[in-house]
Amino acid sequence: MIKKTTKKVNPPQVQNRPGSELKMHPQPISNAHLPFTDKLKNKVLLITGGDSGIGRAICILFATQGADIAIVYLNETTDANDTKNIIEGYGQKCLLIKGDISKEQFCNTAIKKTIAYFGKMDILINNAAIHYETKNVAELDLSKMKRTFEVNIYSMFYMVKYSLPYLKKGAVIINTSSVTAYRGSAELVDYAATKGAIVSFTRSLAANLIKKGIRVNGVAPGPIWTPLIVSSFDKKRVSEHGSKVPMERAGEPSEVAPAYLFLASEDSSYISGQFIHPNGGEIVNG
Ligand code: NAD
Ligand code: MG
Repeated sequence: MIKKTTKKVNPPQVQNRPGSELKMHPQPISNAHLPFTDKLKNKVLLITGGDSGIGRAICILFATQGADIAIVYLNETTDANDTKNIIEGYGQKCLLIKGDISKEQFCNTAIKKTIAYFGKMDILINNAAIHYETKNVAELDLSKMKRTFEVNIYSMFYMVKYSLPYLKKGAVIINTSSVTAYRGSAELVDYAATKGAIVSFTRSLAANLIKKGIRVNGVAPGPIWTPLIVSSFDKKRVSEHGSKVPMERAGEPSEVAPAYLFLASEDSSYISGQFIHPNGGEIVNG
């Protein structure tokens, strides 16, 4: 973290240069976001899948920046309690909400509980997701395919619909997609399709909400070392996770979380409808 400096620095003598900022009226603002702390002071975050992995890293980073946090998770209560303890260790409040985001009514209830507890909501991060590996698409389990769509993308519509009445000007929504949305995935065909839908959803929602002053962006991680990987891939695939990207390693959740902080804070005040790609150096379009 960059420390705030108290040393006075004399501005360079540039008055006579034709390209000088001093000749501009009004002058461009180049220091609005200093110091680099408390970026989320008094903000309330609701995040799905905040118990572990990328979501946990986001919770920890956001807590260091002054956010209070509601975590929605499926059933990993031990992970959720550990994350809550870390958040509280930074002096921030944390509300745990256990349930299934594929259920419309649960999403409505989760938002109502967040508002009842914190009195408001400023940031929504739709991050929870599942995947099932299928080597042969002819053998795709259609009930698993439907479940993947319900958890990964239907839930985003529910969360957004029910939170919008509470989101004011300046609120932000951030959706977790995946590199698989951009380059496909031979063995996660249905999952990659939900992640592609999330990209289009994010862009469309950004257009829809821009006049309300609500920004909508997304993050498309590459291979990250999280429970999702260990719980749903076979041993060989787990051991190779990340080996094919240019950096030849999986990323850590803490290497992904700063992208969310950037998109949640005023640092990204001129950005909406976009994706950030913490993916180990794989070039993707969009
Ligand atoms: P994770 O397992 O730590 O987090 C996912 C969380 O989603 C779970 O902890 C669970 O509580 C929650 N969840 C799952 N189903 C749910 C349901 N029905 N209702 C409520 N909550 C539910 O794994 P992660 O890798 O940190 O995943 C976070 C996001 O990152 C996901 O959207 C995933 O697709 C995305 N992602 C991960 C990777 C990777 O390599 N790990 C790569 C690209 C994208
Ligand atoms: Mg978990």
